[in-house]
This record gives sequence, structure tokens and C-alpha cells, in this order.
Amino acid sequence: MPYYCVNKNQTLNPGLHHEVHTHEHANTLKIRESIDLGWHASETDAVRYAKVYYSDADGCAVCCPKAHRG
Ligand SMILES: [Zn+2]
Repeated sequence: MPYYCVNKNQTLNPGLHHEVHTHEHANTLKIRESIDLGWHASETDAVRYAKVYYSDADGCAVCCPKAHRG
């Protein structure tokens, strides 16, 4: 089960969402300011949980494609 986190900073993508990443991908991207979401069975669950913090939370297109809206 992957460990997820949500970027505290809105990403510079067209939607300006707070993006959810796996911990591994967040490290790859060198994201420093993030909130740990814990382990989730799927990115869909992780994004649902991230919405507790950010109502605009969205899955990263790379590591959370099933939860990516745009
Ligand atoms: Zn990612």
C-alpha cells in the first residue's frame, strides 16, 4: 500500500490544484512542504482524504493517474 502526501503549495499547472503524490514521487520532485496523508489502498482514497485539507485536491497525473482530473 503506498504512502501518500499532498503538496502544501499549489502546483504551477493550469488547474492550480493541491496535488496528491506518493511519498516516493514527492521525493523525486523534491517537494518540501507537504502534509502526510498516510497509507491508502488507492490514489482515489488518498485524494478523498486530502480533500479534508484542500477541497481542490487532485491526483498527480504521473503517480495518481486514476485520481487525476486535470
Ligand atoms: Zn506525483
